[in-house]
Amino acid sequence: MPATHRSNASIRIADPQWSLLAALLLAAALPAAGQEMTVEAYEPRSTLKVPGGPVTRAKFAFVDAHGHLRGSDPARIDQMVKEMDKMNMAVFVNLSGGSGERLKANIAATKGRYPGRFVVYANVDFSGIGQPGWGKKAAAQLEADFKAGAQGLKIYKNLSMFQTDSDGKRVAADDPRIAPVWEKAGELGIPVLIHVGEPSPFWDPWDEHNERWLELKMFPNRRRDDPARFASFEQTMSEQHNLFRNHPNTTFINAHLGWFGNDLARLGKLLDELPNVYTELGAVLAELGRQPITGAAFMEKYQDRVLMGKDSWDPIDGYHVYFRVLETRDEYFDYYRKRHAHWKMYGLGLSDEVLEKVYFRNALKIIPGLDRSLFPE
Ligand SMILES: [Zn+2]
Repeated sequence: MPATHRSNASIRIADPQWSLLAALLLAAALPAAGQEMTVEAYEPRSTLKVPGGPVTRAKFAFVDAHGHLRGSDPARIDQMVKEMDKMNMAVFVNLSGGSGERLKANIAATKGRYPGRFVVYANVDFSGIGQPGWGKKAAAQLEADFKAGAQGLKIYKNLSMFQTDSDGKRVAADDPRIAPVWEKAGELGIPVLIHVGEPSPFWDPWDEHNERWLELKMFPNRRRDDPARFASFEQTMSEQHNLFRNHPNTTFINAHLGWFGNDLARLGKLLDELPNVYTELGAVLAELGRQPITGAAFMEKYQDRVLMGKDSWDPIDGYHVYFRVLETRDEYFDYYRKRHAHWKMYGLGLSDEVLEKVYFRNALKIIPGLDRSLFPE
C-alpha cells in the first residue's frame, strides 16, 4: 500500500546510516542537475536576440588555399565537388600531395577527374638531411614534382619541431642545407605554404589560465612546456622569419596567421618587413572572430596578403562560420571547434573588395595555373 511505503521510506531516511547513503546518492546525482560540471560539459545556449544568421554560401567564388585530402576514392571526390559547388568553393588546394609516384596518383585522382577544381602541392622528404647532396637532390625532386603537376610546396611543422638530421640534431626552418629547395621554388614560381610552430599557449603552463587548456587535455602530446625537449616559441618563430628573409625571391604563405593571430600588430610588422610573405586563415578564424574591430582593420590594411584557408575539410559547416565571420557584422555566434576557442564569434563585415582578394584574387596572384574562368572577371 502506498501509505505504508511512504512511511517505511521516511523511517529509513531518519536512520543516520540511511541518511548518509541518501546524501551520497544526492551528491553523485548533482552534476546532472547542473550544480557542478566539467568544462567539456558546459554548453550554454545564448539567449541574445540580434539580427543575422548562418551563411551557407560564400558571397564570391573562393579558393581554399589550405586543405588536406587523404585518400582518393572517386566517390568521395565526386561528393566533395558537390559540396564545393553548394558553398561556392571554386578550388580546393590539397597540400598533402606527397612526392614522386604518390603525388602523381593524388593529382590523377583529383585534378585528373575535375580539371581546375583541385590544386595539389608537393611535400619534401626531409629524411636523409645531413647526408652530402641532400639539398640538391630534394630540389631536383621538387622540380620533377612541379613537372608532374604540383602547383606549390607545403612544409609541415615537423621541420623546426621534430625533424632531426643524420647527427640527430633538430633541423631549424632556416637551416642552410634546405636553401636549394627554397631557391628552386622561387625559380619555378610556386609558393611555399609553410607551417612552423604551434599556438603559443602550447608552450605555456597547462593550468587554469591556459587558453588551449581543453586542447591540451584532449591531446597531451601537444604540450611544449618542457624546454629540455622543445625549442621555445620565440626561437621557432625567429628561425622561420630568418628563412623568409634569406629567400626574398621565394613566395611564402605563412600558415595559420603565422601563429600571431592573437597579436595582429606583430603579424603586421612581419608583413611590412617581408613583401615575399603572405598568410592564411587555416584553423585560426577564431582569432579574427574574437577581435572584430582589430581584425577588420588588419584585413583592410593587409588585404593583398591574406588568403582564405580552413585546414580541414570536416566539419563542412565550419566553412559557414568562416563566411559569417568574414562577410557579416553578426554578433556573438558559435565557432565550430571548442578546443580552439571557448569564446563566441563576431563578424568583421569586410567590404566586397577585401573579400574578393581574400577569397580568390590573392590566390590567383601567387598560385600558378589556376583557372581564371572560375572567378568573376
Ligand atoms: Zn594544415
